[in-house]
Amino acid sequence: MSETESKPKSNFIRNIIDEDIKSNRYEGRVHTRFPPEPNGYLHIGHAKSICLNFGLAEDYGGKCNLRFDDTNPVKEEDEYVRSIIEDVKWLGFDWEDRLFYASDYFEQMYEYAVQLIKAGKAYVDDQSAEEIRETRGTLTQPGKESPYRNRSVEENLDLFERMRKGEFPDGSRVLRAKIDMKSGNLNMRDPVMYRILHARHHRTGDNWCIYPMYDWAHGLEDSIEGITHSICTLEFEDHRPLYDWFLDQLCVFHPRQIEFARLNLSYTIMSKRKLLRLVKEGHVSGWDDPRMPTLAGMRRRGYTPEAIRDFSDRIGVAKADSTVDIALLEHCLREDLNKRALRVMVVLNPLKVVIENYPDNQTETFEADNNPEDPSAGKRPLKFTKTIYIERDDFKEEAPRKWFRLAPGKEVRLKHAYYITCTKVIKDPDSGEIVELRCTYDPNSRGGWTDDGRKVKGTLHWVSAEHAFKTEVRLYERLFNKENPEDVQEGQDFTANLNPDSLKIIPEALAEESLKDTKPGTLYQFLRIGYFVVDTVDSKPGKPVFNRTVTLRDSWARIERTQNK
Ligand code: ATP
Ligand code: MG
Repeated sequence: MSETESKPKSNFIRNIIDEDIKSNRYEGRVHTRFPPEPNGYLHIGHAKSICLNFGLAEDYGGKCNLRFDDTNPVKEEDEYVRSIIEDVKWLGFDWEDRLFYASDYFEQMYEYAVQLIKAGKAYVDDQSAEEIRETRGTLTQPGKESPYRNRSVEENLDLFERMRKGEFPDGSRVLRAKIDMKSGNLNMRDPVMYRILHARHHRTGDNWCIYPMYDWAHGLEDSIEGITHSICTLEFEDHRPLYDWFLDQLCVFHPRQIEFARLNLSYTIMSKRKLLRLVKEGHVSGWDDPRMPTLAGMRRRGYTPEAIRDFSDRIGVAKADSTVDIALLEHCLREDLNKRALRVMVVLNPLKVVIENYPDNQTETFEADNNPEDPSAGKRPLKFTKTIYIERDDFKEEAPRKWFRLAPGKEVRLKHAYYITCTKVIKDPDSGEIVELRCTYDPNSRGGWTDDGRKVKGTLHWVSAEHAFKTEVRLYERLFNKENPEDVQEGQDFTANLNPDSLKIIPEALAEESLKDTKPGTLYQFLRIGYFVVDTVDSKPGKPVFNRTVTLRDSWARIERTQNK
């Protein structure tokens, strides 16, 4: 990384914070929060928000809270809470002792609501949800005031208390803020603060049968925690006047809401509702399927926290929506894996090669670099024998010009081992399929180099027939085959764009011996093939399963090179 890149890039949020520090708005404090609703697993979009909120706190010597915005009892589950905690930790961020639940503030929120009622700023409305919707008006037409709008404070206090006690059925009444039914901003037309919902909450159980709405709850949560900068996505821009109104009416600590554009990624969907559908309908094996854009899925796919944080830095923050090319994310991943992945040899589609002039029962051991980018990764022994396997694709009987791999009469290098020349092709007499190659080796090319300076263009990966073992390899591709998965014909939905070839299983690839006792989660580069990770779910001791993380071809690097020309 160059010096300029390692300094945090300035952006409009940092400019706002810098100004606030200069004017001593919050006594120079910076306190942010990441507030997920525990109704799904975190995805790469959330990662952007996590990196932003925790990153700002780190850069300014401030704090960042992890807060579960668990105000909706219906869709929330403990499984999601656990996964979110795991994912934020995995990304490398620390909330210290500041893990909070919005549901812990229910009593305080209730008291604030009573305060608003007493101030004549909130009322109980007996209209149905449908009536409320119908009288809300439109962008061009003002709304209509509720017939219950001018109830006395006493009656409102009494009704609100009885709502809490459970005297009324779901949907029969709501508490609304009394603002302005003619406001040009629809969010200000007497928004609902509480609804009746006789539902069990994952933490408060049956204590409550009224639940606060997002707009009412969120600012209070921020205020109670002393958040200074409440960063959210663009769709809340129109809600900011309401955020401010509630806090102003209550005369409580008033954080500043700042909106930024959410992350959209090509070939990816990020709506939790849609991701849940993929899981429920069995299009994927679960929230942690390696094709999912969830952090759990990406971790299982072999993504590293470093790659995701680098990606998040590079995309920055903006005020306008756009879609980021997934090739950039994959580029960040390759850059990181190139530094840390151990190089090994695995043959996906094996073709047998017998080296005729090699002694029958000899085994030689070569020392192979684990990572040429990182000498501290050490070396490993690699065994060579008379019979080996190479990749079927690395041989062509009728080789075109510029074919640098193996062909009859051609010489190539076997990585870390010897030069070999193909002398004979053996075919199945019935099918005509090539079943075996015969080669000779040059004993003077030990380690893959000769004294005479003779050069070969091609280097192949290989495994020793005697030492390799069979292993399952899973080749993952993008889950969707359209850049915008939502781009569908009438009558279809995003599932129409699912890529039918997003997973190809190779049940019996041949892996070099050293991989037998690898550990789940270990990252590898299979030479010439791609980056792989040992699957954390389906691997067993002595029986690893490998997931392809990403191929070697970096389309983003190519784009960058052409742009710099
Ligand atoms: P929904 O509200 O539809 O369930 P959500 O994606 O907004 O989904 P939250 O759990 O409310 O889910 O999100 C937690 C935080 O992550 C919010 O502050 C939200 O702004 C942020 N966030 C969610 N999706 C993205 C995204 N694609 N890019 C950046 N930030 C995001
Ligand atoms: Mg949300």
